[in-house]
Amino acid sequence: MKKHNIFLAPHLDDAALSCGDLICKLVTRDEKCTVITIFSGSPATKFLSAAAKQFHSNCNFGNNPIFHRKMEDKNAMRLLGCEYKHLDFLECLYRADEPENHIYSNLNQIYCYNHDKDKNYEYMVEKALYSEVKDSDVVYAPLSIGNHADHIMTKILYLDYQRKYRGKFIITKIYFMFLE
Ligand SMILES: [Zn+2]
Repeated sequence: MKKHNIFLAPHLDDAALSCGDLICKLVTRDEKCTVITIFSGSPATKFLSAAAKQFHSNCNFGNNPIFHRKMEDKNAMRLLGCEYKHLDFLECLYRADEPENHIYSNLNQIYCYNHDKDKNYEYMVEKALYSEVKDSDVVYAPLSIGNHADHIMTKILYLDYQRKYRGKFIITKIYFMFLE
């Protein structure tokens, strides 16, 4: 059976920039690779925090940079010969526990995972990820150096999954990821 490698990418660009060379090597060996980008949902533009507005201004893609980042990611995946899935969960910069009550309301807060306020979201992401991964898959997850909240959540879910299903995977790996 053809080996299937799954790369759990918190954001659009994480897997291509962190593991592009590895993906290229695996594809050349005729192994299947799929990048699952978790936080690639588009936010409701009328409830953007000041931090999100600042980020959009930095990106210079108007109020919906996710659209452009998805296009860029699709091109990168095509160049790597890799399959991809874009899940619709929101980046931490857009998450709110109530409308207009953003959990990470300034850019400094995104490097400290707020487990209390994010635990419901974590549960939803967990359910979605568990349905994407099969026992025989080789899974790559971020090491989350830099402590970005979305990277931390991804790593927590990956490690929980390993704990619950220890021994079911053939191989699981954590890949290195630089500061954002
Ligand atoms: Zn990232």
